[in-house]
Amino acid sequence: MSMSETTSNRRHFIRKAAELGFFAGTIQHATAEPWSNWSGGQRTQAQSVFYPSSEADIAPIIHRTQGTLRVVGGGHSFSPLVPTHGSIMSLEAMNGMLDHDPHNLQATFWAGTRIASASPALTAIGQGFYNEADINMQSLAGAICTATHGTGRQLSCLSSYVTHLRLITAQGDVIDCSTEHDNELFQAARVSLGALGIITRITTRNRPAYKLKETVKVMNLDAAMSWVDSHKDRYAHIEFMGFPLGNRAIVKTLEETQEADTPVPTPTIDENKLLDLAANTVRHFPWTNTGLQKLIGFFVSDSTRVGPSWAIYPSVRAVPFNEMEYELPAEQGLDACQEIIATMRRERLDVFFPLEFRYVAADDCWLSPFYRRPSVAISVHQYYRQDYHPAFRVLEPIFWKYQGRPHWGKLNTLGSRQFHELYPHFSDFIRVQRRIDPQGRMLNSYLRHLFQA
Ligand SMILES: Cc1cc2nc3c(=O)[nH]c(=O)nc-3n(C[C@H](O)[C@H](O)[C@H](O)COP(=O)(O)OP(=O)(O)OC[C@H]3O[C@@H](n4cnc5c(N)ncnc54)[C@H](O)[C@@H]3O)c2cc1C
Repeated sequence: MSMSETTSNRRHFIRKAAELGFFAGTIQHATAEPWSNWSGGQRTQAQSVFYPSSEADIAPIIHRTQGTLRVVGGGHSFSPLVPTHGSIMSLEAMNGMLDHDPHNLQATFWAGTRIASASPALTAIGQGFYNEADINMQSLAGAICTATHGTGRQLSCLSSYVTHLRLITAQGDVIDCSTEHDNELFQAARVSLGALGIITRITTRNRPAYKLKETVKVMNLDAAMSWVDSHKDRYAHIEFMGFPLGNRAIVKTLEETQEADTPVPTPTIDENKLLDLAANTVRHFPWTNTGLQKLIGFFVSDSTRVGPSWAIYPSVRAVPFNEMEYELPAEQGLDACQEIIATMRRERLDVFFPLEFRYVAADDCWLSPFYRRPSVAISVHQYYRQDYHPAFRVLEPIFWKYQGRPHWGKLNTLGSRQFHELYPHFSDFIRVQRRIDPQGRMLNSYLRHLFQA
């Protein structure tokens, strides 16, 4: 399925939901269209999909349905967090800013708000998120539930900037939590995979609004690794995308600036079309991979641009892929990356998409992969028309060797035992999950496998 087909399915889904009155605020129940995530790698046929438009709509839905109830945000997770044959609830209709505190630089949003609209809304009130991910199509709740992050040695994942949450539990109870109120639930809920209840409101700690200058340079991959290593404290945000077979890298830095905004560039070539073409060529003719990767510099030029933070953070990812990402101890990040690159070269893996290398600061959210560990995030991607299993099967043991913790929203093959070993608070999370949802209504088969094994 192509990206546009996936998008049009979703649009059709939302249009039909609207026709059925799903956004009208009354409790709705209907046979759902098949659901799929952004990449098309996860699909399900749920019994019903609900679109509450207020908190008052949610408890009646919970009481009227039986069996598993999963919440979906933007559907941008690669891992099987959402699929269920029971019910799905989307807070798409509960979006926007609810309140803000100009003195403490905090703002409260409906949990269904996409980052793409939350971030400019913050700028309009003189605030800004500390950091953002590669894309901004995630809902705020979806992003925090999986510890979504950007890059920067001093910048932690989005969940760590949350100060208050409102949850509606599987019993229909409304609970507000923060470090002052039910701290244990709050520590669990900041990264909670939709397993504790439906998050309806999120308050984030922010900073004054700011502008960013993005610099993109194409380099030799080996040179890029040492450049990034030696400049990692010079730039607030630094990362590279590496093409191991062609030995090329796209290095990106972001720094705060007062410079004037640059005009929005009119692209001379459609980079996404070229990416699709190259990936599809490698899929059919793997021997072209090295040559095509060497050509990256012809298609991506060195550039700079300046604008408000919300405009500079996100990239357009129009060619679907599937992704595996692990978060590794920062001091071992480059060694692990070298090993991944060497393996991709030695095995001549037919992956055209680049690997991505980023920095993330430690935090204290129980299920955060960055829990008390300054980290490097390394991700590998496979074109959506190609089976990702062969490449990911070869690469995943390298992440394990470095005590990597997987990104919750991305593909991995770990089970309950490994999560218990990797996350000091995994048992604590399960204890809270059983307290809040003793019947496990919020768990699908993947999460039951992790939490009830
Ligand atoms: C193209 C692309 C680029 C990406 N770039 C990055 C990146 O740069 N950095 C990064 O860290 N990740 C990245 N991701 C991963 C992505 O940020 C996460 O998977 C994120 O969780 C997706 O948010 P979503 O709103 O789509 O949530 P979904 O995928 O829909 O859901 C994620 C989880 O949140 C739960 N959830 C959603 N809403 C609620 C709610 N209201 N209450 C309770 N639980 C809820 C769901 O049940 C599920 O467990 C990327 C993904 C894609 C497809």
